[in-house]
Amino acid sequence: MKYLRKTHWTKDIKPELNGQEVILAGWVWEIRDLGKIKFIILRDREGFIQITAKKGVVSDEILKVIEDLGKEDVIVVKGIVKASKIAKKGVEVIPKEIQVLNKAKPLPIDIWGSVETDLPTRLKFRAIDLKRPINLAIFKIESIVVKAIRDKFYEYKFIEVFTPKIIATCTEGGADLFTVQYFERIAYLAQSPQLYKEQLTASLERVFEIAPAYRAEKHDTNYHLNEFISIDAEAAFMDYFDIMNILDELIVNAYEYVKKYCQNELAILNLEIEVPKKPFKKITYDEVIDLLKKRGVEVRKGDDIPTAGLKVLSEEIGEPFYIIDWPFEIRPFYTKAKEDIRNCKDLTNCVTESFDLIIDGIEISSGSTRIHNRDELEYSMKLKGLNPENFTEHLQVFDYGMPPHAGFGLGLYRLLMVMLKRKDIREVCLYPRDRYRLTP
Ligand code: ATP
Ligand code: MN
Repeated sequence: MKYLRKTHWTKDIKPELNGQEVILAGWVWEIRDLGKIKFIILRDREGFIQITAKKGVVSDEILKVIEDLGKEDVIVVKGIVKASKIAKKGVEVIPKEIQVLNKAKPLPIDIWGSVETDLPTRLKFRAIDLKRPINLAIFKIESIVVKAIRDKFYEYKFIEVFTPKIIATCTEGGADLFTVQYFERIAYLAQSPQLYKEQLTASLERVFEIAPAYRAEKHDTNYHLNEFISIDAEAAFMDYFDIMNILDELIVNAYEYVKKYCQNELAILNLEIEVPKKPFKKITYDEVIDLLKKRGVEVRKGDDIPTAGLKVLSEEIGEPFYIIDWPFEIRPFYTKAKEDIRNCKDLTNCVTESFDLIIDGIEISSGSTRIHNRDELEYSMKLKGLNPENFTEHLQVFDYGMPPHAGFGLGLYRLLMVMLKRKDIREVCLYPRDRYRLTP
């Protein structure tokens, strides 16, 4: 079927266009049939518009088409814009032609907001759930956030790269990897681009990647997924403080873009966002332990900070902050210690050049200065119980001019979750993968 092409988005229909012919395309959100006058509320990605058909003004043929319409039918409307005092938004469209491109059955879930559907059911019918204005808002904002981050990376002369997601060996050793049958062999899905991005600093100097990461962890929290989008960065000739400065800029830019370009979306979400002030506060791991102790949260030195502890800290600090200088024991092998790890007599007191960024009690990013000396790196691997022989190809790169470097991994969905104050990370992922969810 030949059909007319959209000339405008619904949001562009303003009273100033009074008298102009436009072609709109989208979905029937609502029909109001008052007999002699019929209204269609037409939805497209950008919003809603009222189509008004009055007997005597429009053809009987059009009235007949409207009578047969159902919710979510796909239509094209050619009509004349009319400024109107009574219409919502002060404007309506008087149809000259309506083409029905597809019919829709009654939906399995409510997208109109009269009944709140539970998240699992919404996710089961995700493609339909995504028609809800609130979801359109979330995913438009997500796209802007990625653009904000990308723009800032370019400003700092980072190059966007793409590294393999099917890999032969474990990135950071240990378990938690999904296996893949790779012809005759077993391969793994990458849990992070860590080793590749480090290697790339020896040539491209500053790289970033925005790509899926896979973790076969049997988590059942509201902030873990088994497939998530990781924003990774790695830069030669920088240390963890340089990297934290860049991360501040990225995050602030993301908030600023959303505030600047997503006012309509924020209104739909009923949200006002505050742009955080840079530089973000920094507090050392040791200080955190002391502070939490005073607040009645007992954390043994050398343990990770539990979520309950992070919540307490966020409530106290009230804005994004870094926990810096983590013990070597609980950071990955490539993390640089403040002193050469080979000279460290007391490992439990060995502090690394590392950080976690926390917003609203959730870890958003982890980063550090990395070890760039091959011997030191091998030594560190052994301390972590890893066999350097399994990393021969990676280690060899360190023989041919590996610069000092630093970097971070930032979870896109975690950032969106805290920025948009969503309760569950699944809400900000189009098609989440978790322990029990592999479809849709
Ligand atoms: P956590 O302790 O919260 O499980 P992690 O320290 O294991 O996270 P990293 O290896 O530091 O995670 O990964 C870098 C960033 O990627 C994290 O700070 C987080 O924002 C994001 N991230 C990590 N794991 C997940 C996950 N399972 N789901 C969603 N985002 C994740
Ligand atoms: Mn981490």
